[in-house]
Amino acid sequence: MPKLSTSLDSYEVWFLTGSQNLYGDQTLKQVADQSQEIARALGAASDVPVKIVWKPVLKDSESIRRAALDANADDRVIGLIAWMHTFSPAKMWIAGLDALRKPLLHLHTQANVELPWSSIDMDFMNLNQAAHGDREFGYIQTRLGVSRKTVVGHVSNPAVTAQVGTWMRAAAGWAATHELKLARFGDNMRYVAVTEGDKTEAELRFGVQVNTWGVNELADAVAAASETDIDSLVAEYEELYDVAPELRNGGDRHSSLRDGAAIEIGLRSFLEEGGFGAFTTSFEDLGALKQLPGLAVQRLMADGYGFGAEGDWKTAILVRAASVMGAGLPGGASLMEDYTYHLIPGEEQILGAHMLEVSPGLTSAKPTLEIHPLGIGGKEDPVRLVFTADAGPAVVVAMSDMRDRFRLVANVVDVIEPAEALPNLPVGRAVWKPQPSFATSAAAWLTAGAAHHTVMTNAVGIDVFRDFAEIAGTELLVIDNDTTLDGFAREARWNNAYYRLAQGF
Ligand code: MN
Repeated sequence: MPKLSTSLDSYEVWFLTGSQNLYGDQTLKQVADQSQEIARALGAASDVPVKIVWKPVLKDSESIRRAALDANADDRVIGLIAWMHTFSPAKMWIAGLDALRKPLLHLHTQANVELPWSSIDMDFMNLNQAAHGDREFGYIQTRLGVSRKTVVGHVSNPAVTAQVGTWMRAAAGWAATHELKLARFGDNMRYVAVTEGDKTEAELRFGVQVNTWGVNELADAVAAASETDIDSLVAEYEELYDVAPELRNGGDRHSSLRDGAAIEIGLRSFLEEGGFGAFTTSFEDLGALKQLPGLAVQRLMADGYGFGAEGDWKTAILVRAASVMGAGLPGGASLMEDYTYHLIPGEEQILGAHMLEVSPGLTSAKPTLEIHPLGIGGKEDPVRLVFTADAGPAVVVAMSDMRDRFRLVANVVDVIEPAEALPNLPVGRAVWKPQPSFATSAAAWLTAGAAHHTVMTNAVGIDVFRDFAEIAGTELLVIDNDTTLDGFAREARWNNAYYRLAQGF
């Protein structure tokens, strides 16, 4: 299997233009020229991360249906953008929209920015009809119940290209979960409720294959790591990180660093051979592994792998999706856990971390590589990267299984510099203030039944997750500066009814 890709370069979005034969060849030629120009301008925008492929103007039912089927069949195509430059009678779109299985963005735009007041005539009016052509298209999409993103405005407006880019990132996340194979080493942590879930439903909803392997299959791969490969990986660690003297070549505990390197080599080879893009571990089931994988997991997450601790495959899916959605942007995506609080009134903060497994993708600083005891798991002391996440905007997102559906809950947060140094805390961590306030955020989170594990990303914002949830047909409750506890609780209650009804019986 090839190495895991977290790039958007292989993906395409097709640009479809609707019209009809009534207009005649001359007008249709102008429609084609202008829609190619719109597609070109979109594709040239710096915040549009996926290649746009313009398709010939669609003028009848059969070509529309064929375009949808071709898009479905092409793995490179992660979504379609549709624009009705002229009036495209929407019954022509029924078969195509009914067949379409890819994400759809309805771009409500037009070729010109300004009305040509002094020269406008009926030829111009005949050509530039998106104002009503797109309304006809909106009607049929809504009537058919087609999930889509609607973006309004001229493509020269940065707000328009930003929304298109955001939706493309969400569509790429959706494509990535459909390509995703997730390996669980061991089961969930015993007795824990929220990390459980319906893996069969997850494959239908998100396309991800979630299956379990015995941890000793991983241990065999670790044992197969060669001394030469371990030598070169240890050299890489010494170059990339501030390695604690005791772990360096010649140090008292250098052999523990070599054990950590062997775990990384074995884990990578297992994941690459199986074509896995995400995985989970369980500290209760480490088999012949010498250490709980810490450093290896941290580095794999920074390379775009999804990960969940304690068997938490749902969070592993989110970490992988967030990595792809943030591809090419500064920042990263990581498993995170709300760990402990700073509760001085008016200054409330959350300190997030995990036993070991937080991605160094969250920091632009050079981590330190250290070894410390771990109270649980009953294994040797694990090596780990220690750092503090960069200050700045971020999002944390959790997934819970509510019996009949998955519920995503997201909190928009502001990561801050810790008020003081943390010399005795030997893990990767982040300190943040949740929006709109600590009390409202935490109460809303608890009301929603949201998990204690999340993906934290500082590469993309909440809008990408909104588009992802829309594409996935999955509930998303957002806690941000617009949230009130009362309104949030009512939305959660209404959602219980809506999502049951929306599934049918
Ligand atoms: Mn945990």
